[in-house]
Amino acid sequence: MNVKKIIHSLLNIFYNQHCISCKTPIFNSIYDDHLSSLFCPVCKDAILRPYLGRCTRCADQFENSNKNHLCSSCIKHPPQFKKIYPAFLYGGPIADAVLKMKFEPCSALTGILGKIMISEIKKRNTDNDIKGTIDIIIPIPLHRKRLKQRGFNQSALIAKSLSKEIKIPVDMYNLRRNGNLPPQTGKSRKERLKRLEGVFYLKKPNVYKDKNILLLDDVVTTTATVRAATKMIIEQGGAKSVTVICLARAI
Ligand SMILES: [Zn+2]
Ligand SMILES: [Zn+2]
Repeated sequence: MNVKKIIHSLLNIFYNQHCISCKTPIFNSIYDDHLSSLFCPVCKDAILRPYLGRCTRCADQFENSNKNHLCSSCIKHPPQFKKIYPAFLYGGPIADAVLKMKFEPCSALTGILGKIMISEIKKRNTDNDIKGTIDIIIPIPLHRKRLKQRGFNQSALIAKSLSKEIKIPVDMYNLRRNGNLPPQTGKSRKERLKRLEGVFYLKKPNVYKDKNILLLDDVVTTTATVRAATKMIIEQGGAKSVTVICLARAI
């Protein structure tokens, strides 16, 4: 056993938490916030956050602008959701957290992700559409087969944590997903949307009349999934509005 391993084993005796990203032990008593209970200081600093210069609807980041405004895609094809609120940008330590979440449903991680998401969004003073206006949280569902394989839906676990934090009920059984679709990579926007049409359905329609819904997805990439789910919740469910919240926005 080399010195590094001995030190690591000793540290393991005293420290019972490890950085989700680099596995460095983290000392419990020095947690100053929830992020510090998941990541070491170096990884915490490497987390990517949405910056100025993003779309005011879909949160896509612009390469050559430091002002927030509508992106061309939202101008050409206005989404039915009000806005996407991402807590982080996808990549680095957050990508590691997303991966871990998919394999370890009961880790400390999902339990506090709701708290972390809402505090990140509040920090940017952009939670006006969430605070006091939401009636129900709905997580993006997994297809039954995938749910059986994995045993849990990570978006539903985050939704539960968020529900506790902001004291708004979560409905994880009404929005359902049809069949397993092949991966979306390489398809055009139009093709992706077409494929997703009809992928979601409601077990009971018309139950969201006059309700403002917070739709939760772990990672939003093309917006095709949240657009399709929003369409169903508004058109079949009768919801008044849908606002989207995600742990990470991939750009
Ligand atoms: Zn680390
Ligand atoms: Zn946009």
